Amino acid sequence: MDFIGKNKRSHFVENLCVINVGKTVTVMGWVHRRRDLGGLTFIDLRDVSGLVQVVFRPEKKEIHKKAHRLRNEYVIAVIGKVVKREKQNINRAMPTGEIEIDAEELLILNDSEPLPVQINENILAEEDLRLKYRYLDLRREKLKDIILLRHEIVFAFREFLTKHNFYEIETPMLMKSTPEGARDYLVPSRIHKGKFFALPQSPQIYKQLLIIGGFDRYFQIARCFRDEDLRADRQPEFTQLDLEMSFVSQDEIFSVMEEMFKYVFKKTINVDLKIPFPRLSYKESMERFGIDKPDTRFGMELINLSDVLKNSEFKVFASAIESGGSVRCIVAEGCANFSRKQIDGLTDIAKHLEGKGLAYCKVEENGFTGGVSKFLSEDEVKGILKKTDAKNGDLVLFVADSDKMVFKILAEIRNHLGRELKLYDNNIYNFLWITDFPLFEYNDEEQRWETAHHMFTLPKEEHLKYFDNEKDYGKIIGQLYDLVCNGVELSSGSIRCHRLDVQKKIFDVLGFSEEELETKFGFFLNALRYGTPPHGGIAPGIDRIVMIMSKAESIRDVIAFPKTLQAADLMSESPSKVSKEQLDELGIELATKAQRHKEEK
Ligand code: ASP
Repeated sequence: MDFIGKNKRSHFVENLCVINVGKTVTVMGWVHRRRDLGGLTFIDLRDVSGLVQVVFRPEKKEIHKKAHRLRNEYVIAVIGKVVKREKQNINRAMPTGEIEIDAEELLILNDSEPLPVQINENILAEEDLRLKYRYLDLRREKLKDIILLRHEIVFAFREFLTKHNFYEIETPMLMKSTPEGARDYLVPSRIHKGKFFALPQSPQIYKQLLIIGGFDRYFQIARCFRDEDLRADRQPEFTQLDLEMSFVSQDEIFSVMEEMFKYVFKKTINVDLKIPFPRLSYKESMERFGIDKPDTRFGMELINLSDVLKNSEFKVFASAIESGGSVRCIVAEGCANFSRKQIDGLTDIAKHLEGKGLAYCKVEENGFTGGVSKFLSEDEVKGILKKTDAKNGDLVLFVADSDKMVFKILAEIRNHLGRELKLYDNNIYNFLWITDFPLFEYNDEEQRWETAHHMFTLPKEEHLKYFDNEKDYGKIIGQLYDLVCNGVELSSGSIRCHRLDVQKKIFDVLGFSEEELETKFGFFLNALRYGTPPHGGIAPGIDRIVMIMSKAESIRDVIAFPKTLQAADLMSESPSKVSKEQLDELGIELATKAQRHKEEK
């Protein structure tokens, strides 16, 4: 029988402590580090739980010699006695630092070539290289801890929901391509040549069908796929805690969610969340923060100065207001000493967002200096100081443009300054609900209405009348809500359209023809005919939640095998080409560049 067959591991290393002193234990893991000191050889042995020090003494000649062959990341088993360390050798930085294992037997279970990336937080290789060797990077303590925390978090969600009468039910990965908002990942069918499945953008339709199927409360740790150009906090495949409830109001969904987050935060990271979470309407959120996912850990709220400046001699301000926009500002407290370069940096943010620019004034002796101060009348200065309550030493930053642009720029600059000036405590979790989103948004480029979130949302009952006239579509408020924490949108959800007639009205606004509706959503619309209960749901994004809870810097740090910003897996080098035979089986022919060019003409 081999060594492992004969010798069972007795402990994970981090469970060892002074209580085990005198006991003989068997531990298995990797050589994290080897040191030779005064004839002794020390190994830090690492397993999934952590590190323990093993000592090889020269008296035990054979294993001492063997220990000399050990290199980093060799896989070993050690049998030895747990001994207390001498007082001066205690290592308080190590959970097992009071003891060590006095090795009696050593077995080298496997060797390792020198690593292409080091398992050391202090000498991190470039991310691309670490992604290529992800399985090695995962051995790093910080990354490993996040992945294990993710497990704890998901387990706690499951535990909470199961206790609250939710059923975990899987829904298909191969589904019909339906226009849900983003671009689908398509999967060609071999059996039905020329036809395609799509990978789910979310299980939205299926979870509603489960409710129609009578399951009352559903949840799933659901993998979702969206073929979009990626932003820093997005991945082409991501995980959400997808859930749906029957016979509920928005308030009931909020309270289950609040209880759930409170439970999970307490259990996994020992943080007490205060519930209920505050609520803010979309409109108020935009007015106060310029964004629908505000970071409320700090102030610096937007102030509308249009009243004060509507008759200004300063054309830039007056004309923005005149053409239906506004002039708003934020006050950066104590920032009047910002250098030209710092202010240029802020202006660059505005320009990057395709804004016209950023105006500023410094507050000094209860008046303004610098920037656009020379264009403002005494009354205007007074009016602004009164509205903003700006004090000596503050910096006032103005944007004059369409509301949309003003919000976009000031929100970004506010977030930037919040970060740069360290205006918030990183240990605070400010949850809040954003409610009352408009159901539709007008897409100027494509000149059509689209849904702000998704098309299965019930409008407010009193807004149904607005469906009669296109000019009122923008006024329709949906029973839509987002859960936001520290400036991150953690979840979106809504009360759904359980009424076929209302669902049809929505499709109408979106411009689907009868025929399109039938081919794309026929099965779903049909289901709505057979006794659909009122229902609603939400889908917290697991990746972002883990990011916030673990304080990870990148979404890639919370996913075991993430994709790059270019939607590629550097480790397996995918996506990759496939053989001609595979394509033939699917009935797919790749157009050559020349062919495509010809066809496009
Ligand atoms: N299906 C939605 C999404 O993925 C979430 C929901 O409304 O429940 O964003």
